Amino acid sequence: MSTFKEMGLKSEILSAITDLGYETPTPIQKLALPKVLESKQDLIAFAQTGTGKTAAFSLPILNQIDPNEKGIKCIVLSPTRELGLQIAEDIKSYSKNMPSFKAVAVYGGADINQQIKKLERGCDVVVGTPGRTLDLIKRNRLNLEGVQYLVLDEADEMLSMGFAEDLDAILANTPQDKQTLLFSATMPPDMVKLSKKYMTDPAEISAGSKQQANTNVTHQYYKINSRDRYPSLKRAVDIAPDIYGIIFCRTRAETKEVAERLAEDGYNTDALHGDLSQAQRDYVMNRFRNRQLQLLVATDVAARGLDVNELTHVINFKLPDEDAVYVHRSGRTGRAANVGISLSLLTSKEESRLRYLEKKIGRKFEKVLIPNGQEICEKQLFSLIDNIKETEIANSHIDGFLPQIFDMFKDMSKEEVLKKIVSTEFNRFLDYYRDAPDLNKTSDKRERERNKDKNNRRDDGGERRSKRERREHKTAAHMTRYFINQGKKDGFSPKLLMGMINSHMGGISPEIGQIEIMKMFSFFEMESGHTSDLQRAAKQMEFNGREVAIEESSPRPDSSGDQKEKRNRRRGKDNDQRGGNRRGRRRESSGSHGAKRRRRY
Ligand code: AMP
Repeated sequence: MSTFKEMGLKSEILSAITDLGYETPTPIQKLALPKVLESKQDLIAFAQTGTGKTAAFSLPILNQIDPNEKGIKCIVLSPTRELGLQIAEDIKSYSKNMPSFKAVAVYGGADINQQIKKLERGCDVVVGTPGRTLDLIKRNRLNLEGVQYLVLDEADEMLSMGFAEDLDAILANTPQDKQTLLFSATMPPDMVKLSKKYMTDPAEISAGSKQQANTNVTHQYYKINSRDRYPSLKRAVDIAPDIYGIIFCRTRAETKEVAERLAEDGYNTDALHGDLSQAQRDYVMNRFRNRQLQLLVATDVAARGLDVNELTHVINFKLPDEDAVYVHRSGRTGRAANVGISLSLLTSKEESRLRYLEKKIGRKFEKVLIPNGQEICEKQLFSLIDNIKETEIANSHIDGFLPQIFDMFKDMSKEEVLKKIVSTEFNRFLDYYRDAPDLNKTSDKRERERNKDKNNRRDDGGERRSKRERREHKTAAHMTRYFINQGKKDGFSPKLLMGMINSHMGGISPEIGQIEIMKMFSFFEMESGHTSDLQRAAKQMEFNGREVAIEESSPRPDSSGDQKEKRNRRRGKDNDQRGGNRRGRRRESSGSHGAKRRRRY
């Protein structure tokens, strides 16, 4: 039975789903439809949002309901108002050719009297959130005594949101002989208890293993320094010009902060969290659904029920504590035959959770290097050119202006005109990323360097750069030169300098370039972007009883690249580190409790 028709659905339902473009049943539908159509056995179905689970329970129920019979025949419970409304909408679409059939959604945060009026007019299926459903039962406005089907959708979510008692009370008001269908992505212990209490000998089906993540999703991660979390997020967004995604944070405060910073930095974004009123949440969700927002920064609870199928990315700004929550987050992308990316920003400590998580979801995480400025600029540039090529020309409007436009450009070549058009849009990115540091951890940077070297060798027709050439190339690209008040006379050496830096930079290991030990002082080069960390580290150092002072110095007189270019680069770097610097300031001011002692060498 591989088609809906072969499964025995009525013609009025078949025509409705054909109109929706459903050609073949999804895996969970292939399993669930025959079970519900052919038996009254209770059913536990493991399925994520996005797998077609709504149709998996709705279609066989609709097929069997007789709208001419009086009373409510089916109650569907869902964790959130948004999901409930979505399910009710889907059911209405599936039943559009069943004239006397009616579905009503009941949920909190809306006028209860309106919902009571709708129930009084009569309906066949009620879709409700647990709180409002129970409220209506207690007011004697919702009678579930005649229901033949009870569906618990996203049961694990309902339990994790604390609806266990409400479910108990609702289920106590339903008849014994109904068929109970429980849909869930995971099977936490609470749910085992719930199923034992309210289900009789349930059959189990799964369109994958339990907690199996959606196979259309690629699970990726960046390995980050924790202070680079925000700049890394920006890189993730910038390398994907057509991104349409949700950035998940762990707390309301973090959600607000990330959304504010992104908005300040010019991204098209807003926040969704529990401090917003229902009306504000609806407003944000609608703007996101209508693609007026490209990015939504959200907490897990606030984003529940937000049903959008075309998300390209889910970004875990921080991993959630519970594996099941990760499954839910990542299941929001790669839906309805689309593919998607679930990207997590992980420090070394957080990375250790991956192996465990991989086992739970049965999928491998792919480590991806944090893109550098050049890669991002390239991506943005070609996306811009694609957009220009795809833009439809409003002929009738533009034609009249053409002679004047041609005249204005008459002294420029085609190449110049193109460069100028692209630059008007693109300069912003170029300026921003001009001297952006590599945010990858040192070992990953080495890998990047090795790959770059390989490519260079390829590009040079097999000619390998000398070690010195490579170092100079690197220096010109990313290094800042520093003065340090220690020299040969003090017994200072490159080895000591490296040791001091490694043990005081709080776990960061920036690249060190050329070191010049002079008689009374020294110069050294270090990867750009770490001046404040370095100066903070210097305050903790002491050498031969003398305090260590480090200052940024002018570039080496013989280094390649002209001064103006370097000044520009430095300006670009400051720009990129805006977020980092702000955090740095905060960290400095909060560090008043006990200044660290200087370490003696
Ligand atoms: P759900 O898991 O119920 O949220 O469904 C995810 C999306 O898949 C919804 O947009 C459904 O309309 C769509 N969908 C469900 N079943 C099918 C099917 N058999 N063929 C194509 N799309 C489907």
